[in-house]
Amino acid sequence: MQLGQYHTTDADEPWCGVATEDGSIVSLSEAGAAAGIHLPDATTDLLAEWNWRRKAELAVEHAAETGAGVYDADAVDRAAPVTNPQKVVCVGLNYRDHAEEGDNPIPDEPVLFSKFPTTVTGPEDTVSWDPDLTQKVDYEAELVAVIGEEARRVDPDEALDHVAGFTVGNDVSARDLQHGDGQWVRGKSLDSFAPIGPEIVTTDEVGDPHDLAISADVNGERLQESSTSNLIFGIDELVSFCSQAFTLTPGDLLFTGTPPGVGVYREPPVLLGDGDTVTVTVDGVGELTTDFAFD
Ligand code: ZN
Repeated sequence: MQLGQYHTTDADEPWCGVATEDGSIVSLSEAGAAAGIHLPDATTDLLAEWNWRRKAELAVEHAAETGAGVYDADAVDRAAPVTNPQKVVCVGLNYRDHAEEGDNPIPDEPVLFSKFPTTVTGPEDTVSWDPDLTQKVDYEAELVAVIGEEARRVDPDEALDHVAGFTVGNDVSARDLQHGDGQWVRGKSLDSFAPIGPEIVTTDEVGDPHDLAISADVNGERLQESSTSNLIFGIDELVSFCSQAFTLTPGDLLFTGTPPGVGVYREPPVLLGDGDTVTVTVDGVGELTTDFAFD
């Protein structure tokens, strides 16, 4: 199942829907109401519902039979598939090829940092910043795990049961602030610096999350290319590791690290400016194209 959030006019709060194979979007709360099943509007609330997957399937079946809650994909705008996560957790240096490229030792444990939830922005939104604040904006192609079921002190072998699905993310980073501040909070947390989407693909449809091609194209040129088979810490280990320290809740986002080829370490460096476009692709999860602009 592909879960997203959509709106029909700019004034609307986004609502959670399913992108179906025929290209239409089913509003879960509308189709659910027609079928007598209560389903909430926000993805974070949906994922917190008991048995949400079955309820959503029933709503989609009802929509296919009756047309209730069905929208043409061209008639809706895509918001971020999760707009109000409690947490956005990120992992540094988690690709074997990236660590080797920079002559960094393979870490013994994941190195976590975070982005504020207010960084999250949608697949049709522009990432923007004040060029007086930062001159070194960079891209990071990432596979993002979306938590489905609360996870507290879970073992790695049960950790994937707590993941609802995956989406594509770009861990946009202001390198001058990130490296100049002595810690990363400001450089990683500018407004709009976490585009995600276009949809969440549920775990049953992704298959093995540790065998997915991942890439970033900057203005059409491929600058990052790897596979999640190079992840040092897998999704199961990361979820377990996080959950020993803090409770992961439905809708929390886990950015799983980026492969080699980010702009700041290139010769010469490739830094983003007004009018640039970055496409992050994760095989079987989706393609996220983001425009960048000064504001
Ligand atoms: Zn990152």
